[in-house]
Amino acid sequence: MKNIKEYNLNELQEEMLALGEKKYRAEQIFKWIYVDKVKDFDEMTNLSIELREKLKKEYTMCNFKILKKQEASDGTKKYLFDVLDGNAIESVLMEYHHGKTICVSSQIGCKMGCKFCASTGIKFVRSLSCGEIVEQVLAVEQDTGDKISNVVFMGIGEPFDNYDNVMKAIKILNNQKGLNIGARHISISTSGLVPMIYKFADEDLQCTLSISLHACNDEKRSSMMPINNRYNIEELMKACKYYIEKTNKRISFEYALAKDNNDNLDDAKELVKLLKGMLCHVNLIPINKIENGSYVKSTNENIIKFRDYLNDCGIVATIRRELGSDIDAACGQLRRKSLKEE
Ligand code: SF4
Repeated sequence: MKNIKEYNLNELQEEMLALGEKKYRAEQIFKWIYVDKVKDFDEMTNLSIELREKLKKEYTMCNFKILKKQEASDGTKKYLFDVLDGNAIESVLMEYHHGKTICVSSQIGCKMGCKFCASTGIKFVRSLSCGEIVEQVLAVEQDTGDKISNVVFMGIGEPFDNYDNVMKAIKILNNQKGLNIGARHISISTSGLVPMIYKFADEDLQCTLSISLHACNDEKRSSMMPINNRYNIEELMKACKYYIEKTNKRISFEYALAKDNNDNLDDAKELVKLLKGMLCHVNLIPINKIENGSYVKSTNENIIKFRDYLNDCGIVATIRRELGSDIDAACGQLRRKSLKEE
């Protein structure tokens, strides 16, 4: 059966016409799913019983099951969802002063192998469908009753390795007749899939682009992120400059600080050299400890020194608040799980 959440509004209209129904039914269904957030066709009470039966025969609502929910001392909530095929993924809800932010996963596992990430070492299974990406937002809103205002693609998976489904999900999240999450409130983080950065620049979307940089020379970056062997820093920066020129939007560079690895003054100097004059912001992330990981978090003193040096050199840098680290919900700590592990 088809998952009704795989369709954008136009496609749903086509589906209704194919079922011999009027086009406007699609908008009613869309509203039931994304505004009223019902979980069952039977709750769509302005549709005839006959149409509801038809829908039940053709489609599923594909509601994720919550396998586990953990709450950190700072209020961050981590969800483990059953994606209904024997696999499970994690999504995290965080509270910032500007509203609720959800960090969604885009794949079950990840192929990129970043050395500081908990998703590494776990076999890649598959990419999530567009409906499965959107479902994470819906399921959390249904569970908490909260309105989510921001979505970040920083959970499990490389979003640009699942480009089409991620783009389609963004458009569904963004639809004013549905969840109505503004594109400016949606961020995508990539490890540096250069061809997709060019493609994304040409999309004419208002979303924010984050680049996981973490090191400023090829030797160091390749040791942390194997993707750098495919697309080195020079190629990555060229793509970033194209993005900024094309969109006139600021890029956010993520830089996770690991003690005695990439957190000293020479690293900061290299970073300034690399980013000087670019429309950008640097997000400094105290690296999080992961099981079997070799990196150790930088000291607070070093992190502050690093930030101050960047700021003094005219590069806007902030230190990301650590949310949810006591439940392994912080950056780089999410991982795919099979149901058997639970
Ligand atoms: S940091 Fe992101 S791209 Fe790198 S392995 Fe983890 S999930 Fe994949």
